Amino acid sequence: MTFDIQKIRTDFPILSKKVYGKQLIYLDNGATTQKPQKVIDRISRIYSQTNSNIHRGVHFLSEKTTSDYENARNTVKKFINAKSEKEIIFTKGTTDAINLVAFSLGEYCVNEGDEIIVSQSEHHSNIVPWQLLCERKKAKLKVIPINEKGELIIEEYKKLLNEKTKIVSVAHVSNSLGIVHDIKTVTDEAHKYNAYVLIDAAQSVQHIKTDVQKLDCDFYTFSGHKIYAETGIGVLYGKEKILEKMPPYQGGGDMIKSVSFEKTTYAELPLKFEAGTSNYVGAISIATAMDYITEIGLENIAKYEAELLEYATQKLSSVNGLKIYGTSKNKAGAISFLLNDIHPYDAGMILDKLGIAIRTGTHCAEPTMKFFSIQGTARASFAFYNTKEEIDTLYKGLLRVQKMFGK
Ligand code: PLP
Repeated sequence: MTFDIQKIRTDFPILSKKVYGKQLIYLDNGATTQKPQKVIDRISRIYSQTNSNIHRGVHFLSEKTTSDYENARNTVKKFINAKSEKEIIFTKGTTDAINLVAFSLGEYCVNEGDEIIVSQSEHHSNIVPWQLLCERKKAKLKVIPINEKGELIIEEYKKLLNEKTKIVSVAHVSNSLGIVHDIKTVTDEAHKYNAYVLIDAAQSVQHIKTDVQKLDCDFYTFSGHKIYAETGIGVLYGKEKILEKMPPYQGGGDMIKSVSFEKTTYAELPLKFEAGTSNYVGAISIATAMDYITEIGLENIAKYEAELLEYATQKLSSVNGLKIYGTSKNKAGAISFLLNDIHPYDAGMILDKLGIAIRTGTHCAEPTMKFFSIQGTARASFAFYNTKEEIDTLYKGLLRVQKMFGK
């Protein structure tokens, strides 16, 4: 399919909305993405035609929804090229998935004195679960430093690894800076010490085609709402042989084979990690969103978004007094910046009145802000439905903000 931006934009009903009488320009895609009509219709169709709890009923609706749910798992498997459906676990989102791994893998392999590695530029969701694990097990959390461009310093990372390293967990793309990290090297280096590797793909799966088998990471996770699907649903990929060894994270319905007061046995993968009624509607919405993306072609999306990011970087760099944070060449999806000494909240609020939605603050990445000795940034984050014209409007909006502050 050719990349027809005007057609694509009409697929997303919210994009034609006006706010404060101005055409909406949505540049907060790193926080959450908008939904194509196909996804909205699919969700509506489930509730109006087939809704029923999964894995439990023998009746028509339950069997239909169960097969839609399991087909969704298959779609996800293909999308990231996992080996088996058993390796695809539906979670509540990235945060939930990282907590699952931190608990369950932590129970399996982390002991007192062991070490876990994250990076300086992680989202809090990829820091705090590991801190909790370290507290529980008296293990140590080590941090891969970043350089001024926001890149991981791989030489320093190699020095952190040793026989005590049990888990390395890094983002593919940092949410606060938009830097694409060299996760293949991170993974290969960790494996030299038999450490497990989790890739937080919350900000990459929608931008960069990923093949988990080629990458060889042990875990890979992302959230539905950032890939044009529902919120409250996400995916954890894990290698089957590792998931098999890990104890369950939560107990309840669906994750058991048999329950008695004497002995309870657990369900096979992937249900072992899906306790309780899952967000089956959300899971199906992820599959619909993935089908939609596949129709357009993730390579086409990546190419278009790279052009957009390049254009936005040039345009924003031409604003006097604007400083971009995260200046690596390898970037995707986002530009973080500060405008003179104007507080990002003030800039964000003025842009909002012009119909432009951006993010301001620490982006759940306080250690990254600390590294740059700043309180926060303004962040414009992009999706394939954004346009150069929208970036031009952002540019004019920024000049207006400066004018209002006498800059
Ligand atoms: N990791 C990264 C890199 C993120 O950008 C986010 C959300 O912004 C998360 C984790 C947490 O995702 P969620 O809130 O969907 O669980």
